[in-house]
Amino acid sequence: MLIAGNWKMFKGPSETRAFADAFEPPDGVDAVLCPPYPSLAAAVEGGLATYAQSVHWAPEGAFTGEVSAPMLLELGVQGAIVGHSERRQFFGETDETVARRSIAALEAGLGVIACVGESQEEREAGDTEVILRLQVESIRDAVGAHERLVIAYEPVWAIGTGKTATPDRAQAAHAFIKTLLDVPVLYGGSVKPENADELLSQADVDGALVGGASLEVESFTAICQSAARIRS
Ligand code: PEP
Repeated sequence: MLIAGNWKMFKGPSETRAFADAFEPPDGVDAVLCPPYPSLAAAVEGGLATYAQSVHWAPEGAFTGEVSAPMLLELGVQGAIVGHSERRQFFGETDETVARRSIAALEAGLGVIACVGESQEEREAGDTEVILRLQVESIRDAVGAHERLVIAYEPVWAIGTGKTATPDRAQAAHAFIKTLLDVPVLYGGSVKPENADELLSQADVDGALVGGASLEVESFTAICQSAARIRS
């Protein structure tokens, strides 16, 4: 089971080193941390399995503010999140750019956590499956069921809000996604130690992408321990 912590724009190199010194992932869980770019080297040196929070599709070029897959690999980074809803919402990420980033990262040898999920309005309008289909099919058409690809289902209304999809709703969305693309599917959206057992016990929930609760060693470790218990 994969438990990934998305630190967003939190933790510089010294806080990253402190986390790495204190964190001991339980056996039987693939625990990955996704720090901001300036902290990637500290995470790798601290022995954390490390993913970036995005990656560009070109190996190099005039793309101010972006980083490439070969640069991440040179640092010892193992993969990247692509298409997080905050990138889609605030930085113009589209299904097309998510697909391009995914292809380049996978071809270069990185793992990819590709994020999909509906907004509150889309859910209320009954469009959840339409939106998931568009997002997942665009990734599927680009890369297929690649062995280093996982999807993260993150309903946008549940990210950083304290609202969580009910385990039943998460299970239904994950099962639907797997009819479109047969890869592991992580759940993301206010996962915390108190709800991890129930969410991770669902048949088609293959792990979690954790934001806020990944910033503290104690809470991230507790979520990893849930995953280890459920897996065994
Ligand atoms: C995320 O940013 O991917 C996320 C799921 O955040 P949170 O756990 O804080 O809702």
